[in-house]
Amino acid sequence: MTTIPRSNLFYQSRLSRPMLDRAEGIYLYDTSGKRYLDGSSGAMVSNIGHSNANVLAAMKAQMDKATFGYRLHFQNEPAETLARMTAERMPEGLDRVFFVSGGSEAVESTIKLARQYALAIDEGSRWKVISRYPSYHGGTLGAVALTGYDPLTRPFSPMMREMPKVPAPLCYLDRDNLSDHDRGLKYAEMLRDEIIAQGPETVLAFIMEPVGGASTGALVAPDSYYGRIREICDEFGILLIYDEVMTGAGRTGAFVASEHWGVVPDIVALSKGFAAGYAPLGAMVAQGAIVEKVLDAGGFMHGFTYAGNPLACAAGCAVLEEMDRLGLVDNASVMGDRLKAELGALMARYPFIGDVRGKGLLLAFELVSDRETMTPLPKALNAYNRLVDLAYERGLIIYSRRTRGGLEGDHFLVCPPLIITEDQIGEIIVTLIDCLDTMAAEMDLPVNR
Ligand code: PMP
Repeated sequence: MTTIPRSNLFYQSRLSRPMLDRAEGIYLYDTSGKRYLDGSSGAMVSNIGHSNANVLAAMKAQMDKATFGYRLHFQNEPAETLARMTAERMPEGLDRVFFVSGGSEAVESTIKLARQYALAIDEGSRWKVISRYPSYHGGTLGAVALTGYDPLTRPFSPMMREMPKVPAPLCYLDRDNLSDHDRGLKYAEMLRDEIIAQGPETVLAFIMEPVGGASTGALVAPDSYYGRIREICDEFGILLIYDEVMTGAGRTGAFVASEHWGVVPDIVALSKGFAAGYAPLGAMVAQGAIVEKVLDAGGFMHGFTYAGNPLACAAGCAVLEEMDRLGLVDNASVMGDRLKAELGALMARYPFIGDVRGKGLLLAFELVSDRETMTPLPKALNAYNRLVDLAYERGLIIYSRRTRGGLEGDHFLVCPPLIITEDQIGEIIVTLIDCLDTMAAEMDLPVNR
């Protein structure tokens, strides 16, 4: 007998989530009328909140004119304007913009541009892109080869050329006697050692998430790490790629996170908050000198059908305008500090919160069975699913992952839209306390009341 599926759709697993009806501001509503606070902006996407009237009006106006014009047949105003607006917001020199439809396409584009640049300057021996472990760079096979997250990469290992990895600076797990500064340098030197081991003439680029996303749970390295990584790349003529798919568009309290450390990467990948969920959109932004060399050498052999879609770009322009009008980059910083302090305060009540980390409104907490040793909770407790489910029941959405390479540890990203207010932060914390109390009772975890 054929089993009739509940849904013809599938993603990672069978679907069991409520049906979305509508969304407004920081709230989503299911078809039963239940309200959910979007505590993770979806997957760190909805930076300006849902149903922003000005963005919808700009999209409608563009829809009435043209929704598609193939990039090789026509240029279009929204794409030109968005490229200019993006370049104006990026660090000096990052002024050439290539549009795509999402984060994985943006990452693929960065490595293909890097490779064609090496060929254009007669350095064809360079092809290895070193990345970090753990990390997440996307779902397409080129991005999977860069990703350091075993459950997502292992099935495909025969089908791709896995790229070399260096340890991500999971400094909060280190029990050495080094200062933060020296620990940052220690991890940066691991890149230098790996470049030498690989043969510097074979290394094309190094790619990193400046603040970790799903794989590491808002991991921030010590300040010393960032500048030293730039120096090491320069020493060997290796391109530095920042994957700012999650951190970009204001999420960490700067338009791109690289600004926090005064580092100028060679190429940057953007998506998620860039069009904030109003359209599938991403961008690669590169230094003009790199792009010019590739164009002079015969052109960039790469592109996607929907690139520079006028409707998506009109949405992108309106999102950036709204970010300016509402001061959202600053709000991410102010509200991020507040939310981080409130999450930090929960550590007194819950000894099983081992770490609270992040920057701006890219924040996470990690659960452990022992804060001293940072031993993860037993996997069998399935804490990362349970806490998310408890939050769902209470109308709060948070985002969880197994951390430390996908094999152990539970972390939870708390990343609400950048429009969040103090009162709404209070709402998140009250709900989280209810969830953590319930989970502690179920799993027999200690609570200091
Ligand atoms: N890079 C990073 C840092 C990401 O967080 C993601 C998405 N989580 C991607 C790349 C891939 O983006 P997408 O899912 O839009 O293809």
